Amino acid sequence: MSSVTFEHLTKTYPNGFVSVDDVNLHIEDGEFVVFHGPSGCGKSTILRMIGGLEDITSGRIYLDNELLNDILPRDRRLSMAFQNYTLYKNFNTYENIALGLRLRNFPLTVIDSRVKTAAKFLGIAEILDKKLKAISDADKQRTALCRAIVCQPKVMLVDEDFARQDENRRKEMISDILKINRVMKITVLYVTNNYEEAVSLGKRTVFMKDGKITHISEAAEKRSKC
Ligand code: ADP
Ligand code: MG
Repeated sequence: MSSVTFEHLTKTYPNGFVSVDDVNLHIEDGEFVVFHGPSGCGKSTILRMIGGLEDITSGRIYLDNELLNDILPRDRRLSMAFQNYTLYKNFNTYENIALGLRLRNFPLTVIDSRVKTAAKFLGIAEILDKKLKAISDADKQRTALCRAIVCQPKVMLVDEDFARQDENRRKEMISDILKINRVMKITVLYVTNNYEEAVSLGKRTVFMKDGKITHISEAAEKRSKC
């Protein structure tokens, strides 16, 4: 796990539009932080800058003490759940989970152990040999999450686009991600424009509007300790 720090993080598009405007925030090791705000307020832009899909116009992002700005996206120890959802229908569950590790030429024994551990962790060990079309949507989602965790990221980025689905599946996904955060100690940044969801998670919530943080609500468990 890792802490994530934004210092004066800013994104200005070539047309002059300021999508993220001087954002400062420190996210602690192992924290689960929710970003909430209306559509267009800059939530996804922040995740895309962390993931390296978008250049940072100015400001800095740190993962622990490491400046992320100059690190190539593929070398960042992150997982972007919204990017990982592309599963291949001709692959079985095992092959879908293993894909990222295969592409990075991990030894087969390491791949095998990580895939089996992750599948067991999220309760899909029984379907590893099933083709994608033979498994439920909920299990497809777990397959995508397993693919993300076998790479052992320090931070997991979850955009609402990944979670745009029916309510039950969304709840299952959230409970899986909470488990990943709690047990595997992976720091999670979770983006949603659903207010009920943002506040019901009981985590620290960062409220955004027009590219800026308007306020931050502390996690319920922290409040109750005060
Ligand atoms: P959110 O995820 O909060 O809905 P985004 O981070 O996707 O919002 O987008 C923030 C703002 O940046 C939006 O108003 C969007 O229209 C704008 N935006 C996104 N990409 C570009 C671009 N390439 N050029 C100009 N504006 C953009
Ligand atoms: Mg978005």
